[in-house]
Amino acid sequence: MSELHKFLFDGLPVRGMLVRLTGAWTEMLARRAGNTATGPYPEPVRALLGEMAAAAVLMQSNIKFNGALVMQVFGDGPVKLAVVEVQPDLSLRATATLHAAVPDGTSLSQMVNAAGGGRCAITLDPKDRRPGQQPYQGVVPLQALEGQPFEQFSDVLQHYMRQSEQLDTVLVLAADDRVAAGLLIQRMPVQGQANLAGTAAPADAPEDSGEDFNRIAHLARSLTRAELLTLDADTILRRLFWEEKLVRFAPLQGAEGPHFACTCSRERVARMLQGLGRAEADSIVAEQGRIEVGCDFCGQQYRFDAVDAAGLFASAAVDQPPASSALQ
Ligand SMILES: [Zn+2]
Repeated sequence: MSELHKFLFDGLPVRGMLVRLTGAWTEMLARRAGNTATGPYPEPVRALLGEMAAAAVLMQSNIKFNGALVMQVFGDGPVKLAVVEVQPDLSLRATATLHAAVPDGTSLSQMVNAAGGGRCAITLDPKDRRPGQQPYQGVVPLQALEGQPFEQFSDVLQHYMRQSEQLDTVLVLAADDRVAAGLLIQRMPVQGQANLAGTAAPADAPEDSGEDFNRIAHLARSLTRAELLTLDADTILRRLFWEEKLVRFAPLQGAEGPHFACTCSRERVARMLQGLGRAEADSIVAEQGRIEVGCDFCGQQYRFDAVDAAGLFASAAVDQPPASSALQ
């Protein structure tokens, strides 16, 4: 079962989260593999999209925000677009668009930053957006300021978070054909220390030197991808932080946790085809023997053979009140 674990380091300005996408991830992979138009994701694309999915769940959970978090990579290599969308209820969907083959062993920069033009965008789209209000979007290139291309997607996001949130963050991400997982450790802004102490801050008030964060960050970075993919959350946290005082919250799992969801349905596609009109539908059936419509997000293919297609319009005609059919 996919799960999200949140925790704090007792008395220290450091928080963390660990996500393991299992069912949510394998469902997305299975749907893509079943898509006859695309086939399964090549291994390097699967790794990138899985890491993006894990990271997007961590970022959505890390902010107080009522709306969708959309993480996009616009590539200038064989991968044109990779996108993950996570809702506040942690439902998520993802897709990638390729316009050339991606052989095993292709690096991140070869996939999406071949000419240095790749970008990663994070968009926060509020649920109750006022008319004219634009969603918030932050964009970072896929290379360091010195021009060195990032080869780990986690480096892209750490760069993004330093720029946008000014918070020191450690991210460890990994994905294979069964699990997409991520660990996030973040230094929390220390506010109002003097107020809490009930006195005005003396000039030499102890500051958070970052020593605690640095120690915990070092431990977090020692987590290998293999461990992240194969060990359960309890084992990972115990092994990494056995000397620290962890305050853990009840894990979010099942309907409360990260889960796959897509808004597409056969009914929606049927309505779209009905809107297309009978003549257009008939001409596609005449040309290709059937109508096939794929959802970009979940890879689900919706097929309508000649009988299905005729049925769309037959039932539409039956359902139609006489007044509206007279208008046509
Ligand atoms: Zn869909």
